[in-house]
Amino acid sequence: MKVSELKYERVSLESVTGEIEKNLAIIRSAGSAGEVLKAREKLLEIMEEFSTAKSIAHMRYTLNTADEFYLREMEYYDEAGPKFENYLYQYATAMLESPFRSELEKELSPVLFKYFEATSKAMSPEIIDDMVEENRLTTEYSKLMSGMTFDFRGESIPLSILRRYMKDDDRDTRKEAYEVLGNGLEKHSGELDSLFEKLVKVRDRMAKKMGYKNFIELAYYRLGRISFDEKMVEKFRNNVLKDIVPVVSRLKLENAKRMGIEDFKLYDNDVYLPGGDPKPILDRDEIFRAAQIMYRDMSRETGEFFDMMMETEAFDVDSRKNKWGGGYCTYFPKYRQPFILANFNGTSADIDVVTHEAGHAFASYMTRNNRFALELNVGGMETAETHSMSMEFFAEKYMDRFFGKDATRYKYMHVFDALSFIPYGTMVDYFQHIVYANPDMTPGERNETWKKLESEFRPYLSTEGIPYLSKGTRWQYQMHIYEHPFYYIDYCLAQVVAFEFLLESLEDYDGAFRKYVRFVSQGGEALFEDLIKEAGLVSPFEDGALKNLAAEVEKLLNDLRAQF
Ligand code: ZN
Repeated sequence: MKVSELKYERVSLESVTGEIEKNLAIIRSAGSAGEVLKAREKLLEIMEEFSTAKSIAHMRYTLNTADEFYLREMEYYDEAGPKFENYLYQYATAMLESPFRSELEKELSPVLFKYFEATSKAMSPEIIDDMVEENRLTTEYSKLMSGMTFDFRGESIPLSILRRYMKDDDRDTRKEAYEVLGNGLEKHSGELDSLFEKLVKVRDRMAKKMGYKNFIELAYYRLGRISFDEKMVEKFRNNVLKDIVPVVSRLKLENAKRMGIEDFKLYDNDVYLPGGDPKPILDRDEIFRAAQIMYRDMSRETGEFFDMMMETEAFDVDSRKNKWGGGYCTYFPKYRQPFILANFNGTSADIDVVTHEAGHAFASYMTRNNRFALELNVGGMETAETHSMSMEFFAEKYMDRFFGKDATRYKYMHVFDALSFIPYGTMVDYFQHIVYANPDMTPGERNETWKKLESEFRPYLSTEGIPYLSKGTRWQYQMHIYEHPFYYIDYCLAQVVAFEFLLESLEDYDGAFRKYVRFVSQGGEALFEDLIKEAGLVSPFEDGALKNLAAEVEKLLNDLRAQF
């Protein structure tokens, strides 16, 4: 069935509440493990119906944000969402407290019970009001940012358009765009500071109500993290500082010199090649045809996956009026159907849609019949991003079809950008650790903290002379910091593992790809560290892991550059 033909009907919470509560009661008072398992099956059916309906409504809304019907449906799920989450929390707690727990753990999976533990520590009915407040504040931030316009060369444009000029080939244009950005943000600095202040306070309050020292521990549980903790992240961070930062700094400065830049500024950071970024040589239909050939060539599994995506018309990539401006990959569990939304604009980002987003969709496809797919999904965010970022790298072999003679230049930019991301992403994460450990910081102290971190993690660049941003405020347009706290280190961990797959694929493509398919197929049913071990890779948390990686990626970059 085509995605456009999927039937939608609201699954109201009222209509399933009775059934949910009945089965929760059965789990709590069951006389045998068998009874618990039966009630779980019933709950899973409801979960599948509810989350499928919610995802379809969201998808239809993003296809046309002016559609009144789906707008109302979205509003409904926004309101019902926290209540539904409360049921998931009750389900997790009931499973953990069952007198048949050890039997259930054997029958189901110990990983699932670890996940239940995180879920049960992630919320409590006494913080529901605070959660609603937090949702309200993040929505306010998102509205503020998407409604913000910047006066650029006589036009009033949103940040999404300004971003293009922020990485323009012409240095003066970039500088101008950053000045416009700084001046524009400064006009809203009061709101940006006060929204963040309120978010820090409400998150800190939730954590303290639940008996945690501060928000950090609660945030880890909320992300369902069962594979790594604060201590391990600290170790990773120190390794990034020690082993990646010096290499990235050297490469950045050398590269800038080749482009004639002597004083490296923030506005030079996203430019890798003179003459601008390589652009795809194909139009939309050709991109999909090339992707289909690529996926069929990669493996049987990816070929079948991509054929299915094409047959079910599971992509919507044309920009049009009233379509939501971002991009995402989603999944409709009841129909075992992934879906990708994007807005093609003729840049290399279009290719990321058929590699990165398709990597996410491939993971949903490969885990569609897994026993715990509804509860554990494709894994934690670190695992999910490993699926997509690795697919970007496995696709590099085919880039001449998408970029023609610029393929090597594209690979150079792609690999360089991915390596430089690791220090930045780690800094975004560290900033949040400091902020939530010290919830009483003033806005000025937060900016000072950011500035200090910039000098440690990106010592090669300067913000001097850029209005407002020179005060250490760059974090205010990093939306994750407001909207998805602590969801950022996941990208960095995934990037490291994806690099390991890349390096191995250069030695033995097919061997590396088989390992990748095994990694993906297990979804969330194995822990991140076990998946890594099984694939014969080095854990990003291990001492020395990043040192070797940085050296090998540097060598790869030099090899690529020697080819153009
Ligand atoms: Zn992703």
